[in-house]
Amino acid sequence: MGRDTVQFSCHHCNHCCTEVVCLPTPWDVVRIVKQTGANPYEFLEFLAPDEISEVAKNDPTWLDCNGNRFIMALRRDTKGCHFLDKKTRYCSIYEARPILCRLYPFKLQETRDGKFKGFVLHSDVGCPRHRDGVVPTKPLYELYLDDSKHQEDYDDLVEVFNKKQYPGKRPEDFIEMFVKGARRREKKART
Ligand code: SF4
Ligand code: SF4
Repeated sequence: MGRDTVQFSCHHCNHCCTEVVCLPTPWDVVRIVKQTGANPYEFLEFLAPDEISEVAKNDPTWLDCNGNRFIMALRRDTKGCHFLDKKTRYCSIYEARPILCRLYPFKLQETRDGKFKGFVLHSDVGCPRHRDGVVPTKPLYELYLDDSKHQEDYDDLVEVFNKKQYPGKRPEDFIEMFVKGARRREKKART
């Protein structure tokens, strides 16, 4: 293990919940549905390439609907993320929030041979990066590994989705695909 801590404390300026588009994985979505009962058709939106510039053209999570491309994101309005409590300005699903929100604004550092070195703070994501706190890196690294695994599975799911082309295909059909899959697995585990 590399450095055990990173100096940071969140001052709840709300930048990340108002200005940054959050891209959840299907596993994040399933967890949110399970833990909060929220409706994924209400809290997700699908952005076209001209609505989001931060995602590379060759990112494997672009959904293809008969030649039109979309990326899955948490819905936002002019005041920020769908889950931002507009009165308290705190996340209303804190315990179930996506892994990306948990990792923000930390950035993994690896050695030349790909081994874990530690975490630093992203310099280009708009966080004011207050240094008056200490955050242990072990739980962050566990989250990072979890997220990497889920990203690989996400890519595979998208590949399957993109192979199916049919009249009237919508990006929302992708929700059906993985939420149904999760329900089937849950049912099987109970029997
Ligand atoms: S941008 Fe940084 S300081 Fe502001 S709420 Fe997000 S993590 Fe906290
Ligand atoms: S899910 Fe919560 S932590 Fe993540 S962007 Fe939305 S309000 Fe912020």
